[in-house]
Amino acid sequence: MTIGIWILGDQLSMEQAALQQAAQSHKAPVILIESSRHVKERPYHRQKLILVWSAMRHFAQELRQAGWEVSYELAAEFEPTLREWVKQQKITELRVMQPSDRPFGQLIAKLDLPCKITLLPNNLFLWSHDEFSNWAKGRKNLLMEYFYREGRQRYDVLMQGKKPIGGQWNLDKENRKPPKAQLDTPEPLWFTPDDITQNVIEYVKVNDFSTYGEAESFRWGVTRTQALAVLDSFIRVRLPMFGPYQDAMVTDEETMWHAMLSPYLNLGLLHPLEVIRAAEQAYYDHDLPLNSVEGFIRQVLGWREYMQGLYHHVSGDYPQRNWFEHQQPLPKFFWDAEQTQMNCLHQTLKQVESIAYVHHIQRLMVLSNFALIAGISPQEIESWFHSAFIDAYDWVMQTNVIGMGQFADGGILASKPYAASANYINKMSDYCKACTYKPSQRTGEQACPFNFFYWDFLDRHRAKLTSQGRMNFMLNNLDKMPEAELIQIRQQAAAWHKTSSGA
Ligand SMILES: Cc1cc2nc3c(=O)[nH]c(=O)nc-3n(C[C@H](O)[C@H](O)[C@H](O)COP(=O)(O)OP(=O)(O)OC[C@H]3O[C@@H](n4cnc5c(N)ncnc54)[C@H](O)[C@@H]3O)c2cc1C
Ligand code: SF4
Repeated sequence: MTIGIWILGDQLSMEQAALQQAAQSHKAPVILIESSRHVKERPYHRQKLILVWSAMRHFAQELRQAGWEVSYELAAEFEPTLREWVKQQKITELRVMQPSDRPFGQLIAKLDLPCKITLLPNNLFLWSHDEFSNWAKGRKNLLMEYFYREGRQRYDVLMQGKKPIGGQWNLDKENRKPPKAQLDTPEPLWFTPDDITQNVIEYVKVNDFSTYGEAESFRWGVTRTQALAVLDSFIRVRLPMFGPYQDAMVTDEETMWHAMLSPYLNLGLLHPLEVIRAAEQAYYDHDLPLNSVEGFIRQVLGWREYMQGLYHHVSGDYPQRNWFEHQQPLPKFFWDAEQTQMNCLHQTLKQVESIAYVHHIQRLMVLSNFALIAGISPQEIESWFHSAFIDAYDWVMQTNVIGMGQFADGGILASKPYAASANYINKMSDYCKACTYKPSQRTGEQACPFNFFYWDFLDRHRAKLTSQGRMNFMLNNLDKMPEAELIQIRQQAAAWHKTSSGA
């Protein structure tokens, strides 16, 4: 029997299950494949392609240095390349670690290869699919908070016996400061591309794999060593202040105190437990503020694990859900920031073009919120997020965009839609000060589109939102609005969709 190992582009860990099983002998041949057809399925941000391919090429090099026999192939399709390699190497069993993304699992299931294919459980997350399903079984609601508490106990993180350190599980209330004062934010840790990365940058440009995003300004890490350096720098420099301004947005502040670890976690370059333990240890060693440490650990141990668990738990039609029946096409400015005068969207989209990253609140309360209240198709906005972000994969996209951002699942994940008017953006950012539109106006030429769309959204979906329960306060405010103003709001929202792309 000859075993071969196929490593997927987001499984770049020496500890991943397929490599781990064969690690004793280092005998199994290994293959990594860059498929050009696969990446043409959507207009990926150029930096996403550069990140994944450069990280794969670096990982192949590290495997060779560790004694593995590695084939690295640039190909159009996976199947013919695998078939050829299996024949050449006389492989009888191909081992692959279970992909995180369901579409990739389907691709593997359809492969026609002259050998047995064995899928090994994915060990790059803490919770297996079965463990999540057991947790979810029989529960009336699947709120993240309860899952998170279970995770804290299970992995004994920030615990004092059976109680959370500090007496409270969740200190989120302390982490919503608006950016009123002058903030002294730390520089993120970036890297100069080495020869391998530079070659990939040229390869992506010459082959015209994508039309979106800037390639030249690529500064992401591409190896485990660099990912560990980002983790170390985050823990030392950023974690102490991670909490208070977690939701704040400031012009030209690309990252605030956010971790910028998602690209590395999602590629397998870092394991979630080592990230959690590093933050917890820093709390004990350096007496860091609990709201920052707990707030960060909740993101990784709570939200990240919950999102992947839920993704595998829900039924296969989840990506097509559309509870509000939203059908508007995605405005063109999502692909070109220069085409919108809405400053919050302009600033956020400009940054996505430049580094394929903005932080959580920009994703949720600017980009996704706009799509939700403007009635954009959830599938179109999901597809855009998947293309545009450095850390996007199907598993993280469906639950975050279809579920959390668009409430298109009708409330499996969120207890109410994340819909907000300009009030929220004006409070949590400095964007409105430099905007053509007025955050205080609901109608008229200078009215902020977030305002008329927000009230139009409540009006259009009054019945569904009433049945859902948690929006009653805002629906009562809607009831108090003069009829003439409501008519104007409806007209202005409808007119916006008819004018070009809503610039
Ligand atoms: C509409 C929308 C789209 C998103 N798209 C992605 C995506 O494509 N890829 C992605 O990894 N995350 C996504 N997220 C979740 C979250 O916004 C990002 O993980 C985070 O902004 C990454 O930046 P960071 O590493 O600086 O995170 P921090 O804010 O510093 O958080 C630390 C870590 O927690 C994890 N995390 C926090 N929240 C989530 C979450 N909701 N889901 C999964 N992991 C989480 C990430 O691994 C992150 O690195 C999305 C959220 C929303 C609302
Ligand atoms: S006024 Fe409206 S469009 Fe302009 S920045 Fe504020 S929220 Fe965004």
